[in-house]
Amino acid sequence: MPSLKIHRNDTVKIITGSDRGKTGRVLRVFPENKTVLVEHVRVVKKTVSSKQGTRTKGGIAEQESPIDVSNVALVCPNCGPARVGFKVEGDVKTRICKKCGQELPTKK
Ligand SMILES: [Zn+2]
Repeated sequence: MPSLKIHRNDTVKIITGSDRGKTGRVLRVFPENKTVLVEHVRVVKKTVSSKQGTRTKGGIAEQESPIDVSNVALVCPNCGPARVGFKVEGDVKTRICKKCGQELPTKK
């Protein structure tokens, strides 16, 4: 299983695309596709089907769509959006901010 630099519950900033500049919390990661689902980012309105021939209106549901991890930057608590590096000590691999060296623990 490939692991991504972005983990669930991370705060990320969108760096490209129509949602550029937005920050949000990572809801899900999809390592196989290298995509992440970010709260309130790339929200699409999905029409919920209504029964044909009736006057019942279909509802509209809003749902996030996954975006490529290369389009987001992890937000470091010290310096904002940053590149992520890894530090390995024994069996423990921690993520660090490449700018300031701050450890970026994975929130559960
Ligand atoms: Zn930093």
